[in-house]
Amino acid sequence: LKNLIASIFLLSGIAHAQTQLLPVLPQPSAPDPVAYQYSTIDALLAGAYDGDLSVNQLKSHGDFGIGTYNRIDGEMILVDGAAYKAKSDGTVVLAGENEKTPFAIATSFSPNYTRTITATTSLKELEEQLDSQLPNKNLFYAVRVEGQFKQVTTRAISPQNKPYKPLAEVSKTQSVFNFTDTSGILVAFRSPAFSKGINVPGWHYHYLSNDKKSGGHVLGLTLANGVVKIMPLSNIQVKIPTNEMFANTDQAVDRSAELKAVEGERKK
Ligand SMILES: [Zn+2]
Repeated sequence: LKNLIASIFLLSGIAHAQTQLLPVLPQPSAPDPVAYQYSTIDALLAGAYDGDLSVNQLKSHGDFGIGTYNRIDGEMILVDGAAYKAKSDGTVVLAGENEKTPFAIATSFSPNYTRTITATTSLKELEEQLDSQLPNKNLFYAVRVEGQFKQVTTRAISPQNKPYKPLAEVSKTQSVFNFTDTSGILVAFRSPAFSKGINVPGWHYHYLSNDKKSGGHVLGLTLANGVVKIMPLSNIQVKIPTNEMFANTDQAVDRSAELKAVEGERKK
């Protein structure tokens, strides 16, 4: 018993001594979240519609994102780790794990701020409200809006065949859909002005209804009410495709006007 007591005393003494000797370390901070982007918007505008990144690979970089699929076969909505495809025929399907994307951005969604919207809000008003709440417009943001939508207008582009025409030309043949009184999720990214050429400066929204039956690239909407979750992103990893199609794409020209033609026909 004496030995045991001595041992306990010794152990507690050591433990105490170790506690005292240990330096005071700062609490480990959460790693800075990263958005992963594949290819550039200028390559997509130029007609680089075939990428080498699979849905499965994209998902290893995040559970929340937007993009498209090879041949511009529909709009990608990556939400809660599932990649949906809003097709030009109006249907929404789950994308295959081995399907590939020519352009996408994704992150592991973990919002820092939450806001509630209780009044009827147009897309323009939503944008103004969101913008007014962002302290730093030179960051990227991932934003998730869950709500009841009085109306959502989306578009989807049909799969293209080679030789691929520029996106501004192809988007003239896009299918446009109107959904009334649905509940769903907006998957949105806001890219800073300096990201021109790499992503779409400003807001870019894709929609998926909760019944997973409707969605697409958002052209307009009326939100009845919703919850907005905002995640600032100060780290962007851009994967530059090494394939021939990307290599042969002229990315020295200014494609702002083309981007406006493709993205700028939103109904405010
Ligand atoms: Zn889009």
